[in-house]
Amino acid sequence: MLDTPIEYLKGIGPQRAEVLKKELGIFIYRDLLTYYPFRHVDRTKFTTINEIVDETQYVQIKGIVDRLEIVGLKQAKRLVVAFRDNTGIIELVFFKGHNWVAQKLQTGKEYIVFGKPTAFNRKFNLAHPDIDLVTPDLLSQQSAFQAVYNSTEKLKVRGLDSEGIRKTIRGLINQLQPQHLEETLSEEVMADHKLIDRYSAFKQIHCPENARQLKDAELRLKFDELFYIQLRLLKLNKVRSITVRGFVFNKVGPLFNDFFNNYLPFELTGAQKRVLKEIRLDVGSGRQMNRLVQGDVGSGKTMVALMSMLLAIDNGFQTCLMAPTEILAQQHAVTFKELLKPLNIEIAILTGSTKAKERKLIHAKLLSGELKILIGTHALIEDVVQFKNLGFVVIDEQHRFGVAQRAKLRAKNTMPPHMLIMTATPIPRTLAMTLYGDLDTSLIDELPPGRKPIKTLHFMENHRLRVYGFMQEQIELGRQVYVVFPLIKESEKMDYQNLQQGYDNIIKEFPPPHYQVSIVHGKLTNEQKDFEMQRFIKCETQIMVATTVIEVGVNIPNASIMIIESAERFGLSQLHQLRGRVGRGAEQSYCLLVTGYKLGTDSRLRMETMVRTNDGFEISEVDLKLRGPGDIEGTQQSGVMDLKLANLAQDGHILQLARQAAQSILDEDVNFELYKNKVYEKQLTMQQHNRPNWSKIG
Ligand code: ADP
Ligand code: MG
Repeated sequence: MLDTPIEYLKGIGPQRAEVLKKELGIFIYRDLLTYYPFRHVDRTKFTTINEIVDETQYVQIKGIVDRLEIVGLKQAKRLVVAFRDNTGIIELVFFKGHNWVAQKLQTGKEYIVFGKPTAFNRKFNLAHPDIDLVTPDLLSQQSAFQAVYNSTEKLKVRGLDSEGIRKTIRGLINQLQPQHLEETLSEEVMADHKLIDRYSAFKQIHCPENARQLKDAELRLKFDELFYIQLRLLKLNKVRSITVRGFVFNKVGPLFNDFFNNYLPFELTGAQKRVLKEIRLDVGSGRQMNRLVQGDVGSGKTMVALMSMLLAIDNGFQTCLMAPTEILAQQHAVTFKELLKPLNIEIAILTGSTKAKERKLIHAKLLSGELKILIGTHALIEDVVQFKNLGFVVIDEQHRFGVAQRAKLRAKNTMPPHMLIMTATPIPRTLAMTLYGDLDTSLIDELPPGRKPIKTLHFMENHRLRVYGFMQEQIELGRQVYVVFPLIKESEKMDYQNLQQGYDNIIKEFPPPHYQVSIVHGKLTNEQKDFEMQRFIKCETQIMVATTVIEVGVNIPNASIMIIESAERFGLSQLHQLRGRVGRGAEQSYCLLVTGYKLGTDSRLRMETMVRTNDGFEISEVDLKLRGPGDIEGTQQSGVMDLKLANLAQDGHILQLARQAAQSILDEDVNFELYKNKVYEKQLTMQQHNRPNWSKIG
């Protein structure tokens, strides 16, 4: 029944079916059933105007229309309605359809309005709210929980606004019998987690009778979504660990020992030691390692990578490290060369800009097995790069690489090398479980000792003189300063003008010869960039004006001030990354966020978050809440985007339960041989058709 074409549904017919297909991708009954309401209105709940805060989502307010007024000119023309309840006044704003609204509303009459408050100039308003005149009739309907569906202009023309969709779905639900729907969870899992059956869940999500029913339905359907992602990932992990053999590194050899005993420049942190131990257990186990190392900016992931690579070389293997940008790869190469100098071991770097001659030489040395450490960008995954015996791969800042790229490195030896994946910035736990759910994870949850937490301050543009004053003070103390400007493709031309303007202002404020200023941006050649970077590194210049090219990896301990211009234009994770460029030396470091005077709610929250905390994981949680997973790098291929109901920012506890449930099923019966688990085999096979082949990648 659920596979019936949508045109056969009562009240649909060919014309409506056509728009449903085109606009919403609804072809069969089943598609309509999973066209979930985007919210429900509890028509029994009212908010008073004085209860509205920044975080308030949707509100329903009962009140009286006080006054209507057209304000603004031309495009900015709008109808503003003063709406009042016992606690205050809120403005209802209409940019379109003034006349129609004005006709409908009468001053002094009582209405119920529904909408999402937004803050403007520190006042809340509701733009284009739903409005209903209060009548005895309306109030009598108020008990029902109502599903609200997204619609489009074209659907509305055909009578399929939210209301129309609701009626259509109700019709479908009325026809639906339990036997039409296959259960996707075993009795056991449903009982363990107190989940309602699938049939009831669909019924209750579309037509809940009360809050309880709605909650049960949501829990069940969200659990389903998250459970199957986890089941797939964990099965992959489990099957791999059973079937894929890995190289055994069974000795700690001379390189590792020599380095550890004689040349380690600092004591490892407890977290670094623990993670190294986890890696050593993996590579000694006979299974192929796939391990994710998560750690905040500056937590010392590089050292963990380097020491693991030495271990691999001691056991007769070659190693490589892949970074997402040329600058970062260079930086790693410099660090490695410096640290490993006394061990007399060759380190080669391979990037897009490596000269043909050099490239050939590297290829040859890799094939002969002479070269043991290769560092580079995605130039490493090209087919021409062949190793004699690659045994250990490190991928830094993984979320910028696709899963397919991971797979290519994996395939560089007949038996797959061990893989160590390091994240650039912390990501929320829920996202990590989904993006990297097939990997074992290690956490570096401790910063090297002696770091002074970076102090972060927020300045409005009109206080720029204070910013300059502060810069001057710090430069006199011998420190160096980064000044970073945003640069995005969409507004590149303007952004370059701003950068140039900012640079000119700084030169005026900090004139030569006493002050020297570097500038680095994407339009410079690599030589020019390098020259400017070198001047800054050698402390010949005190100020570095730059775009975000310096974002990743750059490590200059004496640079202790980070000034971020137009900070409201950066995302939280980017701000955190940028801030992580300072705080690497012994001095107190500062991060100054400079923004415009008027800030939206989200921008303000971003600034407040940065000022409040240095904890990257906490910041990433806020980021996820603000942006949703869709805008976070690396999520596209992960299945996160298939989530229709579950929300990784809010449903962490459901995810946790779903993962546990999946894990315990697999622990008992990885091949779904037990009768009760047949359902999972069937579902996974069915779902496989619409997905990338997960067993091939990873
Ligand atoms: P990230 O985790 O962001 O990649 P890095 O590996 O670049 O961090 O380390 C940041 C800085 O901390 C480097 O200068 C590194 O030398 C230093 N560092 C790493 N581990 C320690 C440690 N245990 N004690 C002192 N300094 C350390
Ligand atoms: Mg790093």
